[in-house]
Amino acid sequence: MDYEEQVTAITGGSRGIGAAVARRLAADGHAVLIGYRSDQEAARSVAADIIDRGEVASIAPVDVTDATSLAAFFDTAAAMGPLMGVVASAGAVRAVGSLRELDPDDLRRDIDVNLLGAVLTARASIAHLEKTRGSIVFIGSAAATLGSPHTYVHYAAAKAGVSALSLGLSKELAPLGVRVNCVEPGIIRTDFHLDPDRPDKLASTIPLGRPGEPAEVTGAVAWLLSADAGYVTGATIRVAGGR
Ligand code: NDP
Repeated sequence: MDYEEQVTAITGGSRGIGAAVARRLAADGHAVLIGYRSDQEAARSVAADIIDRGEVASIAPVDVTDATSLAAFFDTAAAMGPLMGVVASAGAVRAVGSLRELDPDDLRRDIDVNLLGAVLTARASIAHLEKTRGSIVFIGSAAATLGSPHTYVHYAAAKAGVSALSLGLSKELAPLGVRVNCVEPGIIRTDFHLDPDRPDKLASTIPLGRPGEPAEVTGAVAWLLSADAGYVTGATIRVAGGR
């Protein structure tokens, strides 16, 4: 395996896409650090599955809106071994509806988690990744180019910011040998959706006719982190069923 012994830290690794990524990367030979914000039990359960398979996983709390918390998270990861990979999957939406109806504090919180969180995650990881010539994968969203009207335009704007962040940072960090890429999922069946039926309700708007499953996002992330993608930086891979 290309990845034997490399440590990859995943924010939002306790549930949904991040948890699926943790399972996939561990199976590929990464030692994974699973970040969770509040649901320690969920993180423990993902790590236990991985360890039961004879692979390497640990858990640590991290709030991506807090630079001190992120610094401690990446120090924990680096204590496991050379930190080669960062997957920024943490995300959440509190405000759903048409913009004029949404609460300003909820809007601020959503932009903090989804945009500032990605910025601070990347910032905190650079000192580690420059030592290993490692790589970052942001989990963006197809919302960045669709705009999500009457649902969460502010979240779409935040994810468009993540896309620009990924592109700009790829150029900023290329001289250090650090690669930066973005995966943009479409509608994926996770607890992210406040209405659990939303993914199925939207099936007719998806060219492939169905929502995606978290495991279907993981291959793109695994490839971007792998040696096979050694000449790939500043790229976006859309995993959105054609949306
Ligand atoms: P989930 O709700 O299933 O999981 C969200 C994860 O993020 C949890 O591990 C949660 O931890 C963590 N998290 C939330 N807030 C914070 C925070 N402030 N700091 C650190 N961690 C936090 O969501 P998904 O897996 O579906 O989403 C993962 C990423 O994919 C997000 O960036 C999302 O925007 C993006 N995405 C999702 C799509 C979908 O349809 N599901 C589509 C396109 C993009 P805890 O449980 O401990 O709070």
